[in-house]
Amino acid sequence: MSAALRLAYEVLEVRTRHPFTIARGTTEAYRRVWVRLTDADGCEGWGEADPSPYYGETAETVVAALHRLEPALPTDPFDLESAEAALVRADPGDASARMAVSAALHDLVGKRLGVPLWKLWGLDPARAPLSSFTIGLAEPEVLRAKVREADAWPILKIKVGTPDDERVLRAVREVTDKPLRVDANAGWTPEQAIARLPLLEEMGVELIEQPVPPGDVAGLAAVHRASRIPIVADESCRVAADIPPLAGAVDGISIKLAKCGSLREALRMVAVARAHRLSVMVGCMVETSLGITAAAHLTPLLDVVDLDGAALLAQDPFTGASIDGGRIALPTAPGLGVTKR
Ligand code: MG
Repeated sequence: MSAALRLAYEVLEVRTRHPFTIARGTTEAYRRVWVRLTDADGCEGWGEADPSPYYGETAETVVAALHRLEPALPTDPFDLESAEAALVRADPGDASARMAVSAALHDLVGKRLGVPLWKLWGLDPARAPLSSFTIGLAEPEVLRAKVREADAWPILKIKVGTPDDERVLRAVREVTDKPLRVDANAGWTPEQAIARLPLLEEMGVELIEQPVPPGDVAGLAAVHRASRIPIVADESCRVAADIPPLAGAVDGISIKLAKCGSLREALRMVAVARAHRLSVMVGCMVETSLGITAAAHLTPLLDVVDLDGAALLAQDPFTGASIDGGRIALPTAPGLGVTKR
């Protein structure tokens, strides 16, 4: 039994190769928080916090949350269930900060046991679905260039949710016949979503993410009834308890670690979604390979994967799961299997 774990953190600024635009706005510089837990033997577990402005989070709120979470750290990192419950009691909000600590605890446990996280969970890395690559909103000429630049990726996810949707989709379709998924990021009303269905079908779209605002379950259900294309809830679904009310209103749910705040909660989300016969997707923020790799360890359990967050970066400070050309290669090193570049 070790003494209490020590927590250290560092704020990292990362930039995307291109300004990244979705229905809610444009960003190109992102501040991420690298969390390190060290045990008495000097073994380190790492995690990344990807604060979401959508939920009022910034690097500063993450750092403040880490100070609240530190006194709740377990003396025994193997006691993950109690440890995560204590973290929630210490700070029920601030999911991205809790996620960084959760990832670091799991990394530490894997390293102490000498096994990668997917192996600890009993998963087969060969079952990971291909990941899509996201094309943010842009002018048609830029869109076409981005699609060509994403040549190595077999599936594209197109950001929609503005009055320009038709122009965007036609510009993309002009230069590719790859499978397309769309993400409206809650940018449509149910009526606008339903009105776009014929266009989406014509463009061969195979999945629609979060067509309407998060609280509008009736709206999701209306779009779901009208649509032959599967509907996935993202912003409507943060944690496992959000899933039962969505059964019947969507075809699937999207997990994001920064929303759910813990790897054990992510596993519970998979179980609850399956119990309600929903498909399960994992998405991401703009993240480094540290955050992406934590999510990548879940992918053998999932149907749809969108883990391009680190691929969007100009420079990735970490090496972990490789997602080149959409094919996910999980690390074989213990824990998360992430190293500093
Ligand atoms: Mg989404």
